[in-house]
Amino acid sequence: MPATAANDVDVAEQSWHYLERSKVATTLETNLETGLEPTEVANRQQQFGSNELTVKAGKPAWLKFILQFNQPLLIILLSAGLIKALIGEWLNASVIWGVTTTNAIISFVQEAGAEKKIDALAKAVTTEASVIRGGKKLRVPSKELVVGDLVTLTSGDKVPADLRLVKVRDLQIDESGLTGESVAVEKELGQSGDLVLPEETPLAERDNMAYAGSFVTFGQGSGIVIAIANKTETGKISQLLDRHIDLTTPLTRKFNEFSQNWLLFVLGMATLTFAVRLGRPVPAGVSAFKEAVEPAVALIVGAIPEGLPAVITVTLAVGVSRMATRNAIVRKLPAVETLGGATVVCSDKTGTLTENQMTVQDIYSGGKSYSVTGTGYSPEGEIQLNQLPISVSQSPTLQECLQAGLICNDSHLEFKNDNWIVIGDPTEGALIAAGKKAELSQQVLEKSMPRLDSIPFESQFQYMATLHKTPTGGKVLYAKGSVESILSRCDSSLDTQGNPAEVDREQTHFSVEEMAKQGLRVLALAKKVVPEDQNSVDHADLESGLIFLGLQGMIDPPRAEAIAAVQACQTAGIQVKMITGDHIATAKAIARRMGFRKTKHHRDLVAYTGAQLAEMDKNQLAEAVQAGSVFARVAPEQKLRLVEALQLQGEIVAMTGDGVNDAPALKQADIGIAMGSGTEVSKEAADMILTDDNFASIECAIEEGRSVYKNLLKAISFILPVNGGESMTILLSTLLGRELPILSLQILWLNMLNSIK
Ligand code: ADP
Ligand code: MG
Repeated sequence: MPATAANDVDVAEQSWHYLERSKVATTLETNLETGLEPTEVANRQQQFGSNELTVKAGKPAWLKFILQFNQPLLIILLSAGLIKALIGEWLNASVIWGVTTTNAIISFVQEAGAEKKIDALAKAVTTEASVIRGGKKLRVPSKELVVGDLVTLTSGDKVPADLRLVKVRDLQIDESGLTGESVAVEKELGQSGDLVLPEETPLAERDNMAYAGSFVTFGQGSGIVIAIANKTETGKISQLLDRHIDLTTPLTRKFNEFSQNWLLFVLGMATLTFAVRLGRPVPAGVSAFKEAVEPAVALIVGAIPEGLPAVITVTLAVGVSRMATRNAIVRKLPAVETLGGATVVCSDKTGTLTENQMTVQDIYSGGKSYSVTGTGYSPEGEIQLNQLPISVSQSPTLQECLQAGLICNDSHLEFKNDNWIVIGDPTEGALIAAGKKAELSQQVLEKSMPRLDSIPFESQFQYMATLHKTPTGGKVLYAKGSVESILSRCDSSLDTQGNPAEVDREQTHFSVEEMAKQGLRVLALAKKVVPEDQNSVDHADLESGLIFLGLQGMIDPPRAEAIAAVQACQTAGIQVKMITGDHIATAKAIARRMGFRKTKHHRDLVAYTGAQLAEMDKNQLAEAVQAGSVFARVAPEQKLRLVEALQLQGEIVAMTGDGVNDAPALKQADIGIAMGSGTEVSKEAADMILTDDNFASIECAIEEGRSVYKNLLKAISFILPVNGGESMTILLSTLLGRELPILSLQILWLNMLNSIK
């Protein structure tokens, strides 16, 4: 049975890059178009288990407990007990040891709880993959993949298993984790579309393979899963996933450094106390040595904050889990502290500050402006001209503008729980709803004008295009995107009746401004008639010669809770800046509505476009990042420049991002924040993930971060002076030749009470 053979040793060692894709499919009993059947998937899941690397067993509990004592401070404390034991003061010795052990038990239990919480969070962040099963496209958790599954890849995805690629389109993959090669490699299947490579081709040169753990940085593709879990190349290298939780942060590191110095200081003081006391006369029959040991030990015991390390760890862990309940999952613990110090938050607009609930309100087509009634994605509503409903059949250009929006589209609408929802991109959902209001149907159009090829939307290009066969046998290209990207490529337009016309750029830009000023997101739509023998579409096809069909402006209301959160940030002295790919007027209108405050020395909100930023030199940029509250039409690469410029001004920057190209900026930011709905690449680069994509959650996390930091400082500034004070008392009384005011046992008792509370 080949399905079993798939995981047999010989087949697992198969050189898949050396097989034609049809052979791969037969060997693994799968289909290159429709994938595996769901029942077969279930069988294989049962047989071969889940697509997860085995987790390395952590240290056994007893070892973790013993390691609690492996801190210089505690070792000194234990030694102090030993000295007491050596001179025969057993009671003293056992109390010191007892207290140290009790403290270790408390820390152990608290830290284990903290680790468990953080571990649970780490597991809560699951990677998803797109598969085709039984001909249907699905999103599933990556761990549910089986050998033979047909996986589709788009830019931003993490490759979920080892794949033999069967289709690619400009596919580029970053395999640095596996090969060390830092530039993304282009995957190609050659002219035939099915590249077969010599058997001895090294891993890094296998253009027809994609390996688990690498990232898609550009383009699309699909491939058959040929290995999962520990059988993948990554799995073979690191048989075990080290789910080690690092509990160190800048503050704990500083504290560790401090304790080293503190230790030396304490030992010095203890020696001094011992020496001074030894030099003093003692009553006959009393051992001078024993007399000198007590103050020295008392000083050591007093000066050591044995409970503090645990207090710090636990405070951090509690902060992390509190943030998680408020929809912010911290991936890197130091972020908890850094968050508390954030001075600037740079946030995406669409979906983070706004609802991402789009509804088309205005249409400009064939030289006329229409308005659209209705809310949400519901098909209820009508298209009006001068407040009167119209029939689109009388306005062919308007009809084609709506039609373009319906089929140059990768999303669809579904009626669920009494509500119309978008499966896919909200921007595209709005276009479908608008079409439906004119009695046009996406399904019918997709049948009568089948799609032959497409260029999916990428922020970088700001447009999407699809190629269709027309009912009369011709070929037509539809494109939609930002006004800037579409209009410049149009050299003609249509009048209301669908007759060729000049593009009225002035009037069009005026309409764009009118819509954007109200905060509407504007999309331009266009078409191009192409030769009948054309079967694919490339960016070059869109260079020029497009026919302008119109504009659709959609509203995306600000999130009410985000408005409050922006206010809260600003009141707390944290600047909020909007960074968006959207139009400057739209962005500004939304920022105004959300109460973004103008920056110092400026009369009004200052906004810049990406194009303006690109022309600035370092000094101008430094000024712009301070003055600007809104940065529009920003390319992802420019986010990195913005972060760096802000950091140069001494700001501590939190930056959000969701796209594949946002990763560098997220890494550079002091706190990189990814969206739960964002790409895997951005999540991997981020310090924190927002499960609800909501700006309000950032504000909550900052608040939590501030209170964690305050609590940590409080703990340190409370415990340390107590310890310092106790030891100073002993030192002074010894120097002055007084009786000890406090015994080592009493001190221990005090310290323990302090750290437990
Ligand atoms: P943001 O997410 O910051 O709003 P995007 O990069 O998503 O910015 O969008 C930039 C511009 O690209 C939008 O203003 C819009 O004109 C256009 N656009 C957005 N989504 C799509 C899409 N699915 N298809 C075509 N064009 C789009
Ligand atoms: Mg977007």
